[in-house]
Amino acid sequence: MSVDGAYDIAVVGSGFAGSLFAMIARRLGYSVVLVERGKHPRVVIGESSTPLTNLLLEELTTRYNLPSLTSLAKWGSWQNVHPEVACGLKRGFTFYHHNLNCAGETDVKREDQLLVAASPRDEISDTHWYRAGFDSLFVREAVNLGVEYLDETELLGVAESSNEVALTGRRGDQPVRLTARFVVDASGPHGFLHRSLGLQSLDLPNFPSTQALYGHFSDVSRLEDQHRETPHEVPPYPVDDAAVHHVFDGGWIWVLQFNNGITSAGVAATDSFAARMNFANEAQAWNRITESIPVLKEQFVKAKVQHGFKRIPRLSFRSARVAGKRWALLPSAAGFVDPLLSTGFPLTLLGIDRLARLIENDWDSPDFTTKLKTYAAITDAELIATGRLIGSLYANMTNFPAFVSLSLLYFAVASFSETVRRLKKPYLAQSFLLHDHPAFGPAFNRICDRALTIRSREESDQLSKDVLQAIEPFNIIGLGDSKHRNWYPINAQDLFDSAVKIQSSEGEISRMLRSCGFSI
Ligand SMILES: Cc1cc2nc3c(=O)[nH]c(=O)nc-3n(C[C@H](O)[C@H](O)[C@H](O)COP(=O)(O)OP(=O)(O)OC[C@H]3O[C@@H](n4cnc5c(N)ncnc54)[C@H](O)[C@@H]3O)c2cc1C
Repeated sequence: MSVDGAYDIAVVGSGFAGSLFAMIARRLGYSVVLVERGKHPRVVIGESSTPLTNLLLEELTTRYNLPSLTSLAKWGSWQNVHPEVACGLKRGFTFYHHNLNCAGETDVKREDQLLVAASPRDEISDTHWYRAGFDSLFVREAVNLGVEYLDETELLGVAESSNEVALTGRRGDQPVRLTARFVVDASGPHGFLHRSLGLQSLDLPNFPSTQALYGHFSDVSRLEDQHRETPHEVPPYPVDDAAVHHVFDGGWIWVLQFNNGITSAGVAATDSFAARMNFANEAQAWNRITESIPVLKEQFVKAKVQHGFKRIPRLSFRSARVAGKRWALLPSAAGFVDPLLSTGFPLTLLGIDRLARLIENDWDSPDFTTKLKTYAAITDAELIATGRLIGSLYANMTNFPAFVSLSLLYFAVASFSETVRRLKKPYLAQSFLLHDHPAFGPAFNRICDRALTIRSREESDQLSKDVLQAIEPFNIIGLGDSKHRNWYPINAQDLFDSAVKIQSSEGEISRMLRSCGFSI
């Protein structure tokens, strides 16, 4: 027996992104096959969401009538509707800077840390997605909507003709032959179409060659139990209920805690750091790095790795082509930079949004091909902008004040973009990182480029001033205000004070804060 079928749309890869796209295509009335090489549930990395991620998830699942998934856009509704799916609480972004092998002294000026709150309370907070359960739920929902799901299917070939694409492969000992009018590749970096079509890979401009080593752990304690902060100072959120980043010369470590006793942790680092630590020797390298940072040594003293370590010898990726006449790569298959600012999910969801609208509005129109080219160009441009920013952060991991300043580029435009979208004014922030904004885009590029070659304290100070100037029209949360000493709480008054920047009245801001649950 062979597996045959003719569909409107074939989606390759059933991570949350492929399943979500498949569901949207079904909701638009198309026949859809979703092809997965592996089997759910599976252990997969890429877990930390952001306010923009969750807003996009909420928008997409509302627009395409997927109510059971809308609940996953906030910690509180997730706990109510899907308590069976493990989840982590993410109230903000926590960064600590370390000099390896140095005892950590408490820095009263807080120049060795950056805490940026993303939500004022748990109920409406962001989350870390425990992908084994999260992605399984998405596949189940897709199947319930009538998506044909083929798991444990190895696709081996693709052939494009004038009116369809044929996919061939095997499912166990059965041959598989599927045809579709359009193929969406959601199979991740170096994925199915990239390899089958023999597409080239390109470098990301100004981004170093980096690697990753990571795992899921049990028995990891909480940083707050180490009582590092001075007693009278209360951080804007519990520091562990966050994406916790430990930055040092050559790389950084992430720690994400879930409510099922599992902690996701890993290190991303330059090739030279990875060589020095001998990443190939996975457990030893991990222990060596964590033991050279006192707070991590204590936090991981009893930790046990769950499914072994995983290593990615080349983290960044950029495909030379993103779309053809009858196929498109989702942003997560078109490229990847680094997990540093949790940019993978929002980029992917923005891509899903664009591609879904294209299929919704232009499927049979003569403009389809032209608009697909625009989709490809935007996807690549957003990837490059992300690479530029994170490349500038890598260049300043020893110069933490510059690192903090550069990260404000991200926090300013991310919070601005989220807010104007919530205010139903997305035209005020049309591109990720505002990279094509006529004033901000060029300033952003200049700053990121200059950040690669900072040599002196003066240059570093000047860079910080230039960052503050560049973000000023978008800075609606008081970033860079020295009174905060690198701890940024969420404060509704900041938005009212920035009403002009977000082109909104007090009434509009109040309504928006009520509708997103900020004020009750
Ligand atoms: C180390 C690391 C940490 C990250 N952390 C974050 C983070 O904290 N926040 C964030 O926003 N982003 C993060 N990302 C990025 C994030 O993982 C991706 O943006 C996200 O996983 C995309 O999900 P996806 O569903 O597109 O792909 P995936 O989850 O990669 O799913 C791809 C699916 O395709 C299947 N597949 C692959 N090849 C084939 C084939 N030939 N045929 C059929 N099926 C195939 C795979 O089995 C898999 O199920 C991280 C990435 C890495 C590498």
